[in-house]
Amino acid sequence: MAVDPELAIDLLKELRELTSDENGAQRIAWSPMWLKARAWFQKKLSTLPLEHHLDPAGNSWTTLRGASADTLILGSHLDSVPNGGWLDGCLGVLCAFVVLKRIAEQYDREPPATVRLVDWADEEGARFGRSLFGSSAFAGTHTIDADRNRTDTNGMRLEDALANCGVSVDRIGEAQKERIHARAYLEMHIEQGPVLEKLGLPLGVVLGTKGVERHAITFFGQEAHSGSTPMTARRDALAAAAKLALAIKPIALKYPDAVCTMGSVKTFPGIVTAIVGRCETTLDQRDLDTGVLAAMFHEAQEQSRGFAEEEGCTVEWSRIWNIAPVPFHPELISLAEEAVWETAGRSHRMPSGPLHDAAEVSRAGIPTVMLFVQSLRGISHNKIEDSREDHLKLAITAYDRLASKTMDWIAAQR
Ligand SMILES: [Zn+2]
Repeated sequence: MAVDPELAIDLLKELRELTSDENGAQRIAWSPMWLKARAWFQKKLSTLPLEHHLDPAGNSWTTLRGASADTLILGSHLDSVPNGGWLDGCLGVLCAFVVLKRIAEQYDREPPATVRLVDWADEEGARFGRSLFGSSAFAGTHTIDADRNRTDTNGMRLEDALANCGVSVDRIGEAQKERIHARAYLEMHIEQGPVLEKLGLPLGVVLGTKGVERHAITFFGQEAHSGSTPMTARRDALAAAAKLALAIKPIALKYPDAVCTMGSVKTFPGIVTAIVGRCETTLDQRDLDTGVLAAMFHEAQEQSRGFAEEEGCTVEWSRIWNIAPVPFHPELISLAEEAVWETAGRSHRMPSGPLHDAAEVSRAGIPTVMLFVQSLRGISHNKIEDSREDHLKLAITAYDRLASKTMDWIAAQR
């Protein structure tokens, strides 16, 4: 019994037709278009002998009961950013659909293990700024108190938008009950970066998601007149910040997969006739290795102090947010590599810079791995997001092989 990659691609195109406009996909979580995408997907599932329910966090679960309660979970997310692409999230959900269909048909409706498909609620956090909403509720890492009063750009509260979709924020923790009998989680996703394209490879095996250190860094100098202050007497906060902006590249380049980004610079008073007295910047640092992340953080701190001193300034750091690296399961990584080798003849192990629902599942202690398929031009969260169709077919086939291998692996754990 073979999986049907064509069907997955046809369905992806059908969904694109149904939920996009001239600017791209508009499946923003908790919106009418998102509910429409979910209703469309339920219709496709209704042809199979499956049970379906929404959990208290709004995650959509479809279950094919097997001879054993031990459960393999396949999934991703149907929601998109505004003006998004046709593959981010949806590819993983439709891959899971065709694999579930193949398993249901092959085992005449009772596979050796239970297989569940999950469509996570609000992976993107596009409307309320809270990413991985449903999967973090599942993992028990989501404390709603920090998010309850978030509002969208129209001033609507998260709590109210969720209530409109039948989700009560006070109950989202109950989604943790869905973890029962979970033995493994597999997710297919587009890479969203340029690495596989550069290497000329269709598929990659994801080692885990990088940890993140995100900080606000403010340099303090002295506002002064741009005409009357000699160059030697200046305390220019922007000069110190600019030195740091150039220093983060050599810091990151010491490590093979590390990245550092200064994404925001604000100057005060910010006028053409004044030396910058205060410069507020942000720094985002990522790596899969905790030690590398800590080393980069300390080095950036140290250098910022040196640059501040050189320019007669001071500097202050405050943490915006951080998360530890989430390495995936070593045995599932090996199975994923086998599946990719058998399908594409070549493989590549790589960390993920973006976070994914899979990271939350892994944090919950469920063995997890992801596959990446090459993204053309490395672009996503944009209507031009795309992947080659022959690569998508390889991705679906490899994911199907991985699902079979993982079911055998689950059986062998008993
Ligand atoms: Zn995604």
